[in-house]
Amino acid sequence: MDLRRRVVSLCYDMKVAGHPRCWKTLELVSRNYWWPQMSRYIRQYVSTCDLCLRTKLIRQALVGELHPLWIPDLRWDTLSVDFVVELPLSSGHDAVMTVVDSVLTKHHPRYPLTCTLDTILKYYKALNSRNKI
Ligand SMILES: [Zn+2]
Repeated sequence: MDLRRRVVSLCYDMKVAGHPRCWKTLELVSRNYWWPQMSRYIRQYVSTCDLCLRTKLIRQALVGELHPLWIPDLRWDTLSVDFVVELPLSSGHDAVMTVVDSVLTKHHPRYPLTCTLDTILKYYKALNSRNKI
């Protein structure tokens, strides 16, 4: 058995090692050994372990059913707001607030504003109260 295989086997196949995955095996081996393309060799070794291929469980969560997003009935019921800030000053404004109504998909109003917390709060409160801005 070649020396690299014996080293990896010590860190991977021993009962105390417990057949860890690639990165853990690499970490264990690299504590005392190094050779060119060591990670590739270990990845190959781990991915071809007969025992793991036959017995190891998949640890990822199973993919569940997809559920469609809730679609609101009324306009202005669900809004998303995005801010583009720190723009060059134009007509006294340096930011843009974009409002997207999930019912209205074709027209998204954009409001130029100056980027201060007071201005943002004013627009946000106006949206919440469904007043016209
Ligand atoms: Zn294994």
